[in-house]
Amino acid sequence: MHRPPKLSHLALLAVSFAGLHAIGLLLFRAQATLVTYPFLVLAPLAGFAGCCWRIVAEEPESRSSWILLAAGLFLWTCGIFLSAWEDLLQHIPQSAAWFSDFSFFLYGVPVLLAISSASAKQNIPFFVWMDTAQALLTGFLFYVSVFSVMPFAATPLEPISSTTLVLLYNAENVILAAAATLRLLAQPRGHERRFYAILFCFLWIYAIAAGVYNNWAASNDGHTLMDLLIDLPFLYLAVAAVAPRTLREESERTPHKQTLALFIENVSPIFYTVALLALSISLMRQHFSAGTVGIFTALVVYAIRSTTLQGRYIRVQRELHEAHDRLEQMALTDALTNTANRRRFDAALALEWNRAIRNRYPLALLLVDIDYFKMLNDRYGHPAGDRCLVSVALALQSALPRSGDLLARYGGEEFAAILPATDESGARMVARTMQEAVHSLKIRNETSTGPFVTVSVGVAVFDSPQSAVPELIEAADQALYRAKQGGRNRIEATAQCDFLRDGTH
Ligand code: GH3
Ligand code: MG
Ligand code: MG
Repeated sequence: MHRPPKLSHLALLAVSFAGLHAIGLLLFRAQATLVTYPFLVLAPLAGFAGCCWRIVAEEPESRSSWILLAAGLFLWTCGIFLSAWEDLLQHIPQSAAWFSDFSFFLYGVPVLLAISSASAKQNIPFFVWMDTAQALLTGFLFYVSVFSVMPFAATPLEPISSTTLVLLYNAENVILAAAATLRLLAQPRGHERRFYAILFCFLWIYAIAAGVYNNWAASNDGHTLMDLLIDLPFLYLAVAAVAPRTLREESERTPHKQTLALFIENVSPIFYTVALLALSISLMRQHFSAGTVGIFTALVVYAIRSTTLQGRYIRVQRELHEAHDRLEQMALTDALTNTANRRRFDAALALEWNRAIRNRYPLALLLVDIDYFKMLNDRYGHPAGDRCLVSVALALQSALPRSGDLLARYGGEEFAAILPATDESGARMVARTMQEAVHSLKIRNETSTGPFVTVSVGVAVFDSPQSAVPELIEAADQALYRAKQGGRNRIEATAQCDFLRDGTH
């Protein structure tokens, strides 16, 4: 669709353009003004066209930066048009600033906005409106700075001298280039990195070329080969914007975010505020009200921006916490029965074990296994088996009214219950309640234990600090085995002392 032309072709075009400009200036020295202006207009127009090409070719999220740069170049092109008009038709002296200078100044506004705008991920539509309002105000303040009067005022314009103007230009250019450098140091990624790298080169070439040219123009008059300096940054931009990505850019890995890089990225929206504050303060002495409006606006915009971002940050943090909690919950819950899963069971048992030893109270473990569950599955199908598991889990849970008790799905059709501070008789009582609760579900499964689903329970109670968690589980398992061997639908218990006496551990 937008196949980029070859870099060598673009470079050749740029060199030819500069060559033609040079030849024109050398051959027609007497009409240098007439010859040079078409080139001076075409160069920024080429840069503008390059930006427009990028806007269309770019991913939507990094389009806005290119739009802002294109807007800056448009204002610059307007400036050179006005300059040609002032120079060729109006014969306005170069000794003071005029409308072309105002337009050249304005070019920096969208460019600084592009530098200071937060990365695309962070973009908030409301900020775009705020930035636009701020940019318009900056334009107004520039006007007051350049002409020393309010726009549309009846009083005549009092433009600043060209010496002051050159100083202001240099300040603006260096601030823009320095801000772009900082922004590039923040290691933006992918398309953003490409934009800031191009902007960085363009602004430094521009700052140096403009500095040399303005310095020369302050003591010389007319148009000479020095005009080529003006072409330079724009030709670079036109070529760089349209050029295909280099192999290095294609294979670019996501860089590691360093603290400095993160800091610069977060601080970059302040660039514009600082620039606006500096401009307003410089105006305060002669134009108190305009300066005050500028300072007030800069501060309000800054405050709104930081409170909005702060609010957003808090909201994102809360959402992250909630997501983390949900994930944790999922990682610890059995998806079918919604009881604790094996992972949570293991952690809870270790915890309760230690607590029982510390507080010297007994700890009971119940292993509950559904009798002849395979038969139920075979007769009524797996979905019926699943429904049975869910109902049994609910029934077992209903037999555990204490908040400290924990029911877990131990595996397959086997459940485990941890009962802190419960002795054997208490544990047996709970086991009986569980059996009754399951039986009262009246889930059909005709077996030797009766017409409905039943469970067998193995109980183990430990109250000695000498043993360990696996022994408790083993004891409960053995008790369950005995219950199964004894005919199912039964409760068997292994107290710690029996277990130790058996010598099975
Ligand atoms: P016993 O009385 O000796 O415990 O016999 P049983 O049939 O209950 O035990 P056995 O270990 O022979 O079979 C357990 C069955 O439980 C086998 C397996 O297919 C089934 N099962 C395990 N997990 C699930 C499950 O999530 N859903 C369903 N529907 N069945 C399951
Ligand atoms: Mg079973
Ligand atoms: Mg089993």
